[in-house]
Amino acid sequence: MPQFRAAPAVASLALALSVNSVASAQPVAPPMQHPAVKQALAMLERENAWTIDQQVAVCEIPAPPFMEQARGAYVRERFTALGLEQVRTDAEGNVIGELRSGRPGPTLMLSSHLDTVFPEGTDVKVTREGTLLRGPGIGDDCRGLAAMLAVTRAMKESKVPFDGRLLVVATVGEEGPGNLRGVRALFASPLKDSVDAFISIDGTGIAITNGAVGSARYRFTVIGPGGHSYGAFGMANPIHALGRAIAAIGDLEVPREPRTTFNVGIISGGTSVNTISPSASFDLDMRSESMATLMELDAKVQAIVTRAVAEEQARWPNSRATLTLKVDTIGIRPAGTTADSVRVVRSAKAAADALGLYAPLNASSTDSNLPISLGIPAITVDGGGVGRGAHSLEESYDDRTDGFKGPQWILLLVSTYLGVRGPAM
Ligand SMILES: [Zn+2]
Repeated sequence: MPQFRAAPAVASLALALSVNSVASAQPVAPPMQHPAVKQALAMLERENAWTIDQQVAVCEIPAPPFMEQARGAYVRERFTALGLEQVRTDAEGNVIGELRSGRPGPTLMLSSHLDTVFPEGTDVKVTREGTLLRGPGIGDDCRGLAAMLAVTRAMKESKVPFDGRLLVVATVGEEGPGNLRGVRALFASPLKDSVDAFISIDGTGIAITNGAVGSARYRFTVIGPGGHSYGAFGMANPIHALGRAIAAIGDLEVPREPRTTFNVGIISGGTSVNTISPSASFDLDMRSESMATLMELDAKVQAIVTRAVAEEQARWPNSRATLTLKVDTIGIRPAGTTADSVRVVRSAKAAADALGLYAPLNASSTDSNLPISLGIPAITVDGGGVGRGAHSLEESYDDRTDGFKGPQWILLLVSTYLGVRGPAM
């Protein structure tokens, strides 16, 4: 279940507005011909079964929102077994490890998320039919976790001589109810100042998400005294008030560019057909590629709901029953974009080109939203393969014949971004 937190929504939105960092003009050149990189790329193909086994193993450990501990403990064991340094679990539950080159250079954070949308008690057994895997969370984000482990293992075992530092992180709280609590904690910690770029591996296919779709989600609850539908007739009705609000929200016009959306996803309230309900609520999700547009929509909606409650109240001037409105924030995610001229985006594109892969740019709502809102270059990349039915119990992942190209792409992207020392050095 989502955790509700009352918060001054508009203030949080305003804080989240930010400007992305300035592009660097340094050229990026994927080190395709470097012997250690070649060896690592070959290993990812040759030992693809290891990656798939990890994907299944993590996925069969339940990780409902706020209950990622068991899956986190497994990933932590893998980090230790792979020989990562400084393996730790932070207070929020994020599992962190490091690969240090001992040479100066940038710090890159490579992550994927532990949590699923599935509640406790969901059957998470994975079934395999050839290259097709079925199980809740198998793509989102068991694929990301497996790709992250495979990339880290290949870099380490092939001794890719990169510069700088690679932070490897399994985050908690990426999905809706978690409201990015994992990355929020990471970027509220001292690590924040050392991270030059952030990459989240989330989902399947081959694409680069450099646009962060912002979202604002609320539960609006109208509360009144309620009463008998016949005996107490003539008093303001919480359900009728919500009806007014939802009708007005339904009529809102939003721009197509930047893409902006709204949805009343859940309504609840009422005790019987002949009772004026003492309360009623609805959950609203609003999203936009632009923070300013999202803030505008947010303000309109807050005014609509307040007005709807007042109109319902005014409809029954002789009643002493008073309606009150309660607004709970389910989650706020900042919007923004990592410009495609930024090094981490160019590295991702160049690495895809070098491998003959097509990686389109798109916008979504992921762990990258948070660093993007702080001006830290961040992208979310897919982990390869073909996924279907994310967030459903029928979720599947098909590795086909070339699922390994996802991890290969990510390894080359990481090597390109950090830089790799030539064979002679
Ligand atoms: Zn995900």
